[in-house]
Amino acid sequence: MLEIPESNHIARQLTQIIKGKKLKNVYANSSAHRFAFFFGDPNHYHSLLVNKTVDDIQAYGGLIEMSMNDTKLVFGDGVNIRYFEQGEQLPEKHQLHIEFEDLSSIICTVQMYGGMWAFVDGENDNFYYQVAKEKPSPLVGKFDITYFESLMLTVKENACVKAFLATEQRIPGLGNGVLQDILFNARINPKRKLKTLNEIENEKLFHSIKNTLIEMIEKGGRDTEKDIFSSYGDYRTILSKKTWKNPCINCGDDIVKQTYMGGTVYYCPTCQPIL
Ligand SMILES: [Zn+2]
Repeated sequence: MLEIPESNHIARQLTQIIKGKKLKNVYANSSAHRFAFFFGDPNHYHSLLVNKTVDDIQAYGGLIEMSMNDTKLVFGDGVNIRYFEQGEQLPEKHQLHIEFEDLSSIICTVQMYGGMWAFVDGENDNFYYQVAKEKPSPLVGKFDITYFESLMLTVKENACVKAFLATEQRIPGLGNGVLQDILFNARINPKRKLKTLNEIENEKLFHSIKNTLIEMIEKGGRDTEKDIFSSYGDYRTILSKKTWKNPCINCGDDIVKQTYMGGTVYYCPTCQPIL
């Protein structure tokens, strides 16, 4: 699942590799998938996109937007995006294949669910897309402590820290994956009630969101997720499915793994007490 580090890293990779390329062929929905979502009729994607030139690629939350003047192609956070040079063996099954004039390709596949939306700017009123474009990313200056504390006021009375950070699209692209290391670095338990955090903990959490995400991006995404060349990122997750059996890197205690609020959480009971 693409979260902020991977969408930003992949947007950079795509900028280096496909910016300026012209689209020659678009094959959408070749292998039907129940949870592959398109904007309008995928059969129209070819005529909408052919002969257009990629002029910009940006990440918004966990989404990636490719611009061809006023025509957009947005990849959702559940889409695997892979790049292939001319002559490379292409996967047989895919939900979207974009072939460029130089015969290189982008191939998109959906594992669980994912959107690939092609549209003319202004047409797409999808909630996740709108909110990802509107809300400031934690990577920018506008996402400051004042803004962060204003977000804290939007949660229900008894909400826990995980619910605050990773639900309701409060911070688009911050999901259950990056949440684990953000909370470990802030030494805050995902089950803590948000209202029990003191001023110092609020600030620690705020800085941990920014610093952890920046480090993840600088290292090319997490080591649990793949880039457009099918390589894992170089950011070594502290708490993830890959590492949770190891002792805590700070105190040596056993890491706790639990299903909590529709996803797995990992935490160190000593460094991140529930209180
Ligand atoms: Zn610990």
